[in-house]
Amino acid sequence: MAKGDSNRDGDAAGTPQPSVTQQILTSIVQNTDDAVISRDLDGKILTWNKGAERLYGYKMSEAVGKPVSIIVPDDLPPDDRDVVRRIRRGEHVEHYVTTRQRKDGSKVVVDLTVSPLRDKRGRFIGISSIARDITEQSMMLKRQREFISIASHELRTPLTALTGYLALSQGADDPLQANEFTRRAYQAAQRLTKLVEDLLEVARLEEDRVVLDLAPFNPSAIVEESVQELAPVVRQKRLQLRLKDELTGRDLVKVDPVKFHQIVRNLLDNALKYTPSGGRVSVNLTSSGDVVRIRIKDTGIGIDEKNLEKIFDKFFREYTELSVHAGGTGLGLFITKQLVDRMGGTLAIRSRRQQGTAVTLEFPKAKVRKRKTAAKRKK
Ligand code: ADP
Repeated sequence: MAKGDSNRDGDAAGTPQPSVTQQILTSIVQNTDDAVISRDLDGKILTWNKGAERLYGYKMSEAVGKPVSIIVPDDLPPDDRDVVRRIRRGEHVEHYVTTRQRKDGSKVVVDLTVSPLRDKRGRFIGISSIARDITEQSMMLKRQREFISIASHELRTPLTALTGYLALSQGADDPLQANEFTRRAYQAAQRLTKLVEDLLEVARLEEDRVVLDLAPFNPSAIVEESVQELAPVVRQKRLQLRLKDELTGRDLVKVDPVKFHQIVRNLLDNALKYTPSGGRVSVNLTSSGDVVRIRIKDTGIGIDEKNLEKIFDKFFREYTELSVHAGGTGLGLFITKQLVDRMGGTLAIRSRRQQGTAVTLEFPKAKVRKRKTAAKRKK
């Protein structure tokens, strides 16, 4: 700023006018997205920009003159008082993360930069602060931390089994026993691989990195293929698996075929996994109005009613004798639901403990443009 800038901007009557520089600064403060406020030594609000109006919900006229405590939650963390003490000592505090309260009572996580306000003689007359809303980032960080902590915990189980069985097989004198330990180590390695694959898919979904190659096609072939792939499990567990397909060649859905296969496989895997030997699993493909419906029903162990709302949560598993034995990651239904949503479909689960589970997948029918007839083309 040029020295004496403000003196050159007086009007004819000699009334001091804000200098151009001051006008620019005021405009920047007014128009920034950040909430910029200042208060005096008693905590009374002196200035309140548009960003503060947006962030905290109070208009300038409502906030100026009020105590700054209107935006400070009652359960103020002790650090907040420490920051005020530091400012009073003349320090400048940057990127201090804390919580503030909006007019409607909701909380907002803010990144604050706080500085002392001084008059021309350098006397401390108040505090100015710039707040940026980081609620979204802080939620994301919290979710990421939780995810990493659960994922590492889940990875440890098959990893411990894998190293344990390998050590046992190395130390075993009996070749038959060594063979059995190696087989178990191999199973643990497979569980580990599945868990890592699922974790990577979850990370891709959460970071929006899943690329879907959507194209209209008839779902029958993929469902049939999935049913056939599972024939060995059906035989081994002595289950009955029936497929009833009522779709016609015109019942097309617009989905990514690879992901659609993953969805059907996961739901079928679950139906077979959670149905004890001798049980039945049925798959029905029907067309109803504008949707194609795929229903997978089993006569298995079912899900406790109180757990149905958690069934799509990451890592959620019910701990029954069968599910502990069957193993799993608790990520399958989370991934499945996310994929179905992204492809414009719906996924609903009805279930009762010991009575079986019915999973219904619905996808809107793809609108296929009719080809123009030869007569129309001539016109
Ligand atoms: P998992 O890898 O454990 O099978 P999912 O996310 O696919 O993970 O399923 C979450 C939980 O929902 C399972 O652990 C199981 O408790 C329950 N579940 C899912 N499908 C069925 C089903 N068809 N019958 C009974 N329980 C089921």
